[in-house]
Amino acid sequence: MKTILVTGGAGYIGSHTVKQLINNGYKCIVLDNLIYGHREAVLTPYFEISDLMDKNSLDKIFSKYQIDSVVHFAAFAYVGESVHSPKKYYENNVIGTLNLLDVMLKHNVKNMVFSSTCATYGEPKYIPIDELHPQRPINPYGRSKLIVEEILEDYHHSYDLRYISLRYFNAAGCSKDNDIGESHSPETHLIPLVLKAIIDQNKPIKIFGSDYDTPDGTCIRDYIHVEDLAVAHQLALEKLDDYSGCINLGTGIGTSVNEIIKAAESITGKICPIEYTQRREGDPAKLFATNEKAKRILGWIPKYNDIRDILSTAWSWEINRKY
Ligand code: UDP
Repeated sequence: MKTILVTGGAGYIGSHTVKQLINNGYKCIVLDNLIYGHREAVLTPYFEISDLMDKNSLDKIFSKYQIDSVVHFAAFAYVGESVHSPKKYYENNVIGTLNLLDVMLKHNVKNMVFSSTCATYGEPKYIPIDELHPQRPINPYGRSKLIVEEILEDYHHSYDLRYISLRYFNAAGCSKDNDIGESHSPETHLIPLVLKAIIDQNKPIKIFGSDYDTPDGTCIRDYIHVEDLAVAHQLALEKLDDYSGCINLGTGIGTSVNEIIKAAESITGKICPIEYTQRREGDPAKLFATNEKAKRILGWIPKYNDIRDILSTAWSWEINRKY
């Protein structure tokens, strides 16, 4: 049985990946500082409360377990906060990763799947976005992830690190069983906020801009189900012997903010109160991926291609929340 260290395994995508790996015969060790993660989301008995800034503690974890590979999610991920507190982002996301890599190499662990993001691309020059699209992130969060991607590439060449950086588009939905789901504090993402507005009719969802150059004037994104992301992490772990590099994870389908709201109204049978506001800084009109490389290299095919199916899992979590 392979042993995988999952940093940030108490977070949204991390916890779904742990579930996927455990269900497929892996032993998972979760490392999380629980600043944003949830204890209830940790589905493995092997849980270490630790922080990437604490190298001694990392060293102890690598001594305690015979780790084969690392799936590295632990990071701060609020774009707006990163603009106001870049130091926090560079320290945690970049120095934290350097600490992790140091300890990995010391213990001769040379396999990493890294949680990256389409935010490394910045303003799109063309769509759909492929992996060759220029990377010019427009905020410190995206830059911190791009810096780590580049560090991994250098460590691959110089220290034989095998890595795959997975660039997610918009993660959405939750486990079909509703045992784990999406829970951020503060919540900033569109889908949970739409569902909350449907539940609490007094708090309308703010639509950030309705004058974009899109068919209905609202922004278009590529919403990818979190269980499809989790499967891709397993496939990436199993591909590390043959391939190192960067891979997009999206459905290739663009959905507008208005389409999300209409679909949410249709699956819940309720009206979503809305309020049009001005554009949010740094939001491109359209972002969606081509996932050809993920299909070719990983053999990954997303199962959720209908936004209503994704929203249904998010809705059943929202009305049965465990945390
Ligand atoms: N959005 C919105 N109102 C909100 C949150 C998001 O209109 O309260 C829009 C946002 O402008 C973007 C899309 O919904 O076009 C997805 O935003 P989210 O923050 O979920 O993800 P992002 O694309 O920023 O990673």
